[in-house]
Amino acid sequence: MRCVQISASDDRMDCREGFFDPINPLPQKCMKCGFPDLDHVPQPYFLIKSRTISPNDLALASNGNFLLRERIRRVLDLFGPGQCSYFPTYYKGTSQQTPWLLGVPNHQVVVAKVSPKIPRCEACDEPRSAHPGTQWVEYQFGVPGRNQPQAKGWTQDADYEVLKSATWGSSEKGWNQWISRDLFMSVRLLHLLKKIKAKGFYEATCQEPTPPDKQESAWVREKFQELASAGIPLHADGTLSDYDAKWLCEYIKAHMRAAKADWDIKTVERRIKAKLPKSYIDFANAVGPTSFENVDEQEGFTACILGPNELGIEGIPSDFEDEESKKVNGLTFATTLHGDCFCFDIQKGVKEYAVYLFKHEYNHLEPYAANFAACVKRFAGGNDL
Ligand SMILES: [Zn+2]
Repeated sequence: MRCVQISASDDRMDCREGFFDPINPLPQKCMKCGFPDLDHVPQPYFLIKSRTISPNDLALASNGNFLLRERIRRVLDLFGPGQCSYFPTYYKGTSQQTPWLLGVPNHQVVVAKVSPKIPRCEACDEPRSAHPGTQWVEYQFGVPGRNQPQAKGWTQDADYEVLKSATWGSSEKGWNQWISRDLFMSVRLLHLLKKIKAKGFYEATCQEPTPPDKQESAWVREKFQELASAGIPLHADGTLSDYDAKWLCEYIKAHMRAAKADWDIKTVERRIKAKLPKSYIDFANAVGPTSFENVDEQEGFTACILGPNELGIEGIPSDFEDEESKKVNGLTFATTLHGDCFCFDIQKGVKEYAVYLFKHEYNHLEPYAANFAACVKRFAGGNDL
């Protein structure tokens, strides 16, 4: 079957910053150079609490592994039994389980060789570094020269729905800077997941994603029916749950200002040509514009929630290239000190808009929270009150 490489948000639930500084360190395998045991799965496996609030169903994890919600595990159990091992995950430093499972692909594929020019450890023979763009040679699986844009996305034949690279990649300066492995998934499974609105995974390509061929489309249709009859939910849980609403209510009570603000919401709504979510209006009236420090446990990441009069003043570009970002009708409601910002996805018929993070370096939008309440909870560290 045809496989593609998976890309996803670089903000990992199991890393302190982007995909650097993993919070589940690996044991050393080589006593001489200290190279880690890449196939070891640390137990218990910890995640950063605020980041688990992500509205997605799938996310990448360290080492070519991934994180998934129970609904997706049921899909994989049906159509790829035995292809992955699953482990529970826990909020960092606690014994409390998160709603995410760690998925470890049981099958690996050699992607490339590392340039013979790179010095190797005498004891374990691992190279000192293996940068995929400049230090990999003799590509054997997909990615023929990652730096060259492909005429079309690449696909590669494989025997499994899910697999990861045996080859590791790292910083040019050394594997001790960062180290990563790639995740691959069949074209047909990726499209089936898209059909059940499972968010978080994309094909790694600068071009249009690979469309399913005739056979793959037939498979997706057939399996979709099977999922329906197996009682697997075909949509993620959605919108402002009672739980999120209650949390925000408690938060507002605890952080209320002495003088209640009196914003002219009607005028603002006329200016932005949209209704504001009730959760945001309640927050703006009682708490007002405010900022949160060290968001997602990232040092120096400050999120400033704007007052109604400042909504949308900091604009979001409209020249996105990826499909997901293009679909979002963004209205900025929070800024950061580093050029990124948070926006509502203003859509007709929706009361509590989904929240996206605009990442200026990548020029794209990433799903951040299911709604404003869940977003504030994430800003505040993800803890219950
Ligand atoms: Zn070594």
